[in-house]
Amino acid sequence: MPQHTPSPRVCRDCDGFATAVITTGTRRPDGTRATLTVTCPTCKGTGHTTPTADLVRAGR
Ligand SMILES: [Zn+2]
Repeated sequence: MPQHTPSPRVCRDCDGFATAVITTGTRRPDGTRATLTVTCPTCKGTGHTTPTADLVRAGR
């Protein structure tokens, strides 16, 4: 049972779900629902963290 994950690592903040679409409940005039797309600021929407960033954090 390997504990370490191969690179690229999944973003710790969003757990790999870098973008989330939120339904606001508001209806647009054309009948479609207005949605908001939120992108994870940590991985910038990639869903992965760079190993370099982890090394810097773990470095002291
Ligand atoms: Zn993320």
